[in-house]
Amino acid sequence: MELTIENVSKTYSNGVRALDGVSLSIPTGMFGLLGPNGSGKTTLMRTIATLQDSDGGRAQLGDIDVLKDKEFLSHLAALKGITNTGERKDVVEALLHRTNLWNIRKQKLGSFSGGTKQRFGIAQALLGNPQLIIVDEPTAGLDPEERNRFLNLLSEIGENVIVILSTHIVDDVAQVCSRMAIIKEGRVLRTGEPEDAIAEIRGKVWRKVIDKSELPAYESEHDVISTRLRSGRTLLHVFADGRPDPSFDGADPDLKDVYFITLSRENGADAASGPPRARAGGEGTGPSDAGSGSSGGGAGSPGGSGNGGGTREASSVFPPNAHVSASARDTSDDGARR
Ligand code: ADP
Ligand code: MG
Repeated sequence: MELTIENVSKTYSNGVRALDGVSLSIPTGMFGLLGPNGSGKTTLMRTIATLQDSDGGRAQLGDIDVLKDKEFLSHLAALKGITNTGERKDVVEALLHRTNLWNIRKQKLGSFSGGTKQRFGIAQALLGNPQLIIVDEPTAGLDPEERNRFLNLLSEIGENVIVILSTHIVDDVAQVCSRMAIIKEGRVLRTGEPEDAIAEIRGKVWRKVIDKSELPAYESEHDVISTRLRSGRTLLHVFADGRPDPSFDGADPDLKDVYFITLSRENGADAASGPPRARAGGEGTGPSDAGSGSSGGGAGSPGGSGNGGGTREASSVFPPNAHVSASARDTSDDGARR
């Protein structure tokens, strides 16, 4: 099974071009859609789930023409008609075990923590044996343990179906996704396997601990990928073909380096080679430090009643109010340079 997205565009009525000719091929497995806030992730996810219309483009899942075939949702909904009582009990019990909810199955939904609600949402989504599961910023607001548990659950599911994990948190993708796309301003800057992308910059990322006050000088002389705070000092990552000077050490690059190098390019077409274009200094605290710790209360409530109802039910998208909850997190965006 493969989801093929071709040239999907969307301009909102206020003139914002949220998607600008997005094309992607997404096979079975965990696919990370990675991009900063406002890059168009939610718009794309909602479009694929047929929760909103695009201006043009195609999306094909197996032999289903997703965007044309408005029967898609009811098709999915019909699949959930598990009418035989005995069968239903078996299915539900299996899902409660799988999502680690069995022990708390008698508790009230309202008493669930954020992570538990997310797992409940997944259990719900899995009821229909979907071939495609879309989760939009599911880990925001989860504590580290909940987040790990949730990501593990997702990757188990991703062994058999297409799971699209849309997130601005690089570590989410680094931990569980075998393929990914980086999106910015409605355009796909690069796609592929995280490992390949990291391999491409190996030997070209250099690190140095500096004082924050020295940062402007370094930024004017080097291609600074990111700055991360380490025990009150600033750890600099710089992109260069060779060691900039003996005071720099070679860094073992990770997906964050890939991400920030990719985002910093004006034109993503050649994202794999050449130095990042010069850019103005940004706010500078490290991407890693912003990441999984992002604030912001509830990450939607997939299990909540009357919360988008048929939407989540049929399309397996949650949280259904993702856009609303995302905007509350805008200030905790990664420290990317723009
Ligand atoms: P992301 O999920 O990556 O944060 P979104 O898809 O929510 O990105 O938003 C992409 C762009 O479209 C942003 O500039 C956002 O402000 C804008 N946008 C999103 N939803 C709407 C809407 N309903 N009306 C107008 N603009 C919107
Ligand atoms: Mg979003």
